[in-house]
Amino acid sequence: MDDAAPVVVARFADVSEIDADPGLLTTAELARHGRLVAAADKQAYAAAHILVRECSAELLGARREDVVIRQRCGRCGAVEHGAPAVADFPGIWVSLSHARGQVAAVAATRRCGIDVERVSRGPDRALSSREAAWVAGQQDAAYAFTRLWVRKEALVKAGHGSMAAAQRLDVLAENGPADQLGGARITPWEAPGFVGAVAICADRRTGN
Ligand SMILES: [Zn+2]
Repeated sequence: MDDAAPVVVARFADVSEIDADPGLLTTAELARHGRLVAAADKQAYAAAHILVRECSAELLGARREDVVIRQRCGRCGAVEHGAPAVADFPGIWVSLSHARGQVAAVAATRRCGIDVERVSRGPDRALSSREAAWVAGQQDAAYAFTRLWVRKEALVKAGHGSMAAAQRLDVLAENGPADQLGGARITPWEAPGFVGAVAICADRRTGN
């Protein structure tokens, strides 16, 4: 099994495409959902947390209502944020992301990470010097920045580096944003105004 090709179910969707039944959320998820103020944030949160159940259910051959998502923060131990996992299935990994209007989720037989962001120009301190130079030379700097940013987020969620040291996680290849880095395969995604990326580790044992 370790040597088998990874099985991946990844989806990006407009929030309106998701039947986000809040009855499927856990107590911890509902608590977090209840504290969000903006309707667009509540809608995106619920949609992403349902979408990750749909991806997991498809991977497992189960029903989405039978998938229980648990989170636990590696830093503070809280159960209302942190990396998500499917309860009782240690052999699969999941990741989710939401921006207002767009959501993304992945379930895989390898460590994985996914990110979706509205196109925007973030700070150069998130970039290596060569990435910053590349972004500055692009016609659409916001689009270029976001293509790099979603790769960093997806890789960190898959276990590579940290966002605190995003500058050191250089995701630029010779011809533009990388599709392969440190043993992880990166698949880009985009829709008008949004950019996303999925990172899948090649080896389930080491996270590389
Ligand atoms: Zn925490």
